[in-house]
Amino acid sequence: MSKLYFRYGAMNCGKSSMLMQVAFNYNEKGRRVVVIKSSIDTKAEEYLSSRIGLKRKVDILLNPKDSLKPYYFDWKVDASCILVDEAQFLTKEQVEELWYVAKILDIPVICYGLRTDFQSKLFEGSSRLFELADEIEELVTICKCGKRAKFNARFVDGEFTLDGKSIVIDGSKANTTYEPMCGTCYLKAREAFLKKEEDWEDTRQVKLNL
Ligand SMILES: [Zn+2]
Repeated sequence: MSKLYFRYGAMNCGKSSMLMQVAFNYNEKGRRVVVIKSSIDTKAEEYLSSRIGLKRKVDILLNPKDSLKPYYFDWKVDASCILVDEAQFLTKEQVEELWYVAKILDIPVICYGLRTDFQSKLFEGSSRLFELADEIEELVTICKCGKRAKFNARFVDGEFTLDGKSIVIDGSKANTTYEPMCGTCYLKAREAFLKKEEDWEDTRQVKLNL
């Protein structure tokens, strides 16, 4: 039977480039791959893009409400591999369906995604993938200090933050950006952020008491 793979890493570890490389290798041998991306990621719409300049059209833009079942028959006929980008945004039901594709339809499924969000919490899709995947591989990216980056820090106007919704796509709001960080740098930035919030709250209390 085929395997369900989960290859995860922090922001900017080259997930989309790797996915496109795998797709290229299959296509070169005359084999069809199906590329899926969550519609939550509006970065490049129906295209996958990577920072090193690769670009590829997505076959299925997947809405969180969508089921993959209608595609099963077509895939069974001639798909050699299913590739999923931004797999952290999948729902747990969609991950279950991909598991079915690997195990019952016998088509390998390779999912690329982030482990955790900017508050260091597991994404729904990633959580289910950790539970079900046959093979789990961590992709390496480097923090600005040179250590391995494991976390995704969110910055608003250049300031580290823990506030806001779980999903704000990079660049969709001009002032929101992300940076891959090692545990040490992430924790230090988080401490400094919490301290600042506390100081602000103290100042507010003082003002209220005056
Ligand atoms: Zn670091």
